[in-house]
Amino acid sequence: MMVIDGKKTATEIRARLRGRTAALEEKYGKKVGLAVVLIGDDPASQVYVRNKVRGCEEAGIRSFAHYLPPDTTQAQAEELVRSLASDDAVHGILVQLPLPKHLDAERILACIPSSKDVDGFSAENIGKLALGEEGIVACTPLGVMELLRRYSVELRGKRAVVVGRSNIVGRPMALLFVNADATVTVCHSRTENLAEECARADILVAAVGKPNFITADMVKDGAVVVDVGINRVDGKLVGDVDFSSVSQKASLITPVPGGVGPMTIAMLLTNVVTCAERAMK
Ligand code: NAP
Repeated sequence: MMVIDGKKTATEIRARLRGRTAALEEKYGKKVGLAVVLIGDDPASQVYVRNKVRGCEEAGIRSFAHYLPPDTTQAQAEELVRSLASDDAVHGILVQLPLPKHLDAERILACIPSSKDVDGFSAENIGKLALGEEGIVACTPLGVMELLRRYSVELRGKRAVVVGRSNIVGRPMALLFVNADATVTVCHSRTENLAEECARADILVAAVGKPNFITADMVKDGAVVVDVGINRVDGKLVGDVDFSSVSQKASLITPVPGGVGPMTIAMLLTNVVTCAERAMK
């Protein structure tokens, strides 16, 4: 059994981005820019935004952080995002979720043009993924694909089982596997015989949000197991996979923390640079 080192992989990816941003600056005389919009005072969101801004600095990306108060109106939020949409210095726009309850997140996100949608959440980008066309792919599933690629995991013809069908993880993950010629099963809370479905997987991805949900009896010997879950239990981070028992059966497994998590921000920064490259060309 081998443990996938997401932290090291993410560090390598982030280091390489510097070269891409520097090349754009040299060729077009412009800096790559990411606008981050944070509305309200959710402490976890503040930490995420700080990490993203720091990540931008390291990658040679200029960040424009907009902090709006909790009582921001729908019209004010939409106006800000629309102004960023037409700002040439901004190549990517990220609206940190969740938004305060009185705001309609969907309508605010709809103001982000798909060419600047670095989270890959827009209907257009998800549609492109479904059609197998080039767009921007959601960061977490994209990070999983990058880990599997770097660890030389064969997907073609293999049985991939994704547990979870959220718009930000499970669904795009399943589409990426279909596009990579895997045979794909998507499981969710209504799935019958979940353990049996999982036990058939050559590649098993857990994106459920329940600590230690995937146990050894649900895993085939030699399977590749990817744990997307981030759950806090007694102040400690644990995944959706019961690592101690499942790692005895898996051939390759991601840990939590240090697996998929660090890849998400690396792929976000990658998406920003990709959007900038497309815009400048
Ligand atoms: P979500 O929107 O809550 O979706 C959870 C999915 O799991 C749903 O599709 C749900 O099914 C399914 N599910 C729930 N209970 C189940 C059960 N008993 N059996 C089978 N399926 C079940 O969560 P998410 O946003 O996709 O996130 C999933 C996990 O990944 C969370 O722990 C989150 O913190 C983590 N996450 C990590 C990263 C990262 O950077 N590593 C990024 C995003 C999310 P239904 O559709 O039927 O309700």
